Amino acid sequence: MDVAEQLLSGILDSLSLQVAVIDERSEILYVNQAWRSFGLFYGLPFETDWFGIAYLDLCRANEDTHQPALLQGVSDVLAGKSEQFSIDYLCHTPTQQPTWLTLHIRPMQNSVTERPLFLLTLTNITHHKQVEDRISALSLTDPLTGLANRRRLEQFMHDEWSRAIRHQSGLSVMMIDADHFKQLNDSMGHSAGDQCLRQLANILMQYTNRPGDLAARYGGEEFVLVLGQTTQQEAIKIAERIRQKVMALEIRFAEHRLMTVSIGIASLAPVSSAQKEQLARNQWLNFSEDGHLLLDQADKALYVAKKQGRNRIEVYDKHHRLTAPLIV
Ligand code: GH3
Ligand code: MG
Ligand code: MG
Repeated sequence: MDVAEQLLSGILDSLSLQVAVIDERSEILYVNQAWRSFGLFYGLPFETDWFGIAYLDLCRANEDTHQPALLQGVSDVLAGKSEQFSIDYLCHTPTQQPTWLTLHIRPMQNSVTERPLFLLTLTNITHHKQVEDRISALSLTDPLTGLANRRRLEQFMHDEWSRAIRHQSGLSVMMIDADHFKQLNDSMGHSAGDQCLRQLANILMQYTNRPGDLAARYGGEEFVLVLGQTTQQEAIKIAERIRQKVMALEIRFAEHRLMTVSIGIASLAPVSSAQKEQLARNQWLNFSEDGHLLLDQADKALYVAKKQGRNRIEVYDKHHRLTAPLIV
């Protein structure tokens, strides 16, 4: 090896990037030190002879890389059908935490052999993914209470509404608003008010044990509880428990007024296929898209609860039943 070659080899082996060179049959001609080191996490000895192993065979033999998109993307570059290809995948090794890798492959400028050669790199992007996940979680969480925020609620309602229609299962939504909260703030102070909202949030969280459930802060002192596969009767029972638990907090303000909540409930009944068709004919064409409907109805029921004197539960009833197939 002359000096230039030694230098080049030193550079390649100093990279944290995993580098391999493969030919058009995907056979490995070269791997750098980072590649060999990653092999250790699979229990392969550092001296493993990678030379001549078909990279695509390795991919097919491993669950993480045995993905049609990955195999096709690499094959297309090797066949000259595309200029380059990259894909992110989660890599599980027996000895290390799961690692996110970006695989990138492109043809090399090659004056060494007659055959085309390809540069294949694997970059560890676990840290970026973690930051991405954290940002995404933050953008969907209410900072005061840790509950889902309104954006997350919108997504969730859309998904749950579609699921409820598809599986013809029930779905209930509760709109929960703290009573006389302005007065509570005025008498206890805003930060004590914040603490009360957190306590309220903790109560709601106790009712979100299944994947179809979500507690969200809708705004100010208003919360929403979504309960998948829950009938109106079941929702009423849960609402009553919530109402009782809030009273049991025994938060008193403005000359012994007890902190209470008012709750509005709206439910989507399990819908039969015949009903679904009828709804579609009656211009319910975007029926499966409209998760907002239940929220609007729960809000209307909440308004009635407030008007009726607060600290009570109201259900969106059959007199309003022009717009949705609710259980009554
Ligand atoms: P009602 O029984 O009709 O719901 O009366 P209310 O006083 O609860 O309702 P209103 O809408 O008049 O006032 C809501 C109050 O909630 C006013 C506002 O200062 C308070 N609030 C909204 N967001 C927060 C918050 O993040 N922290 C605190 N401490 N208070 C909040
Ligand atoms: Mg209020
Ligand atoms: Mg309010």
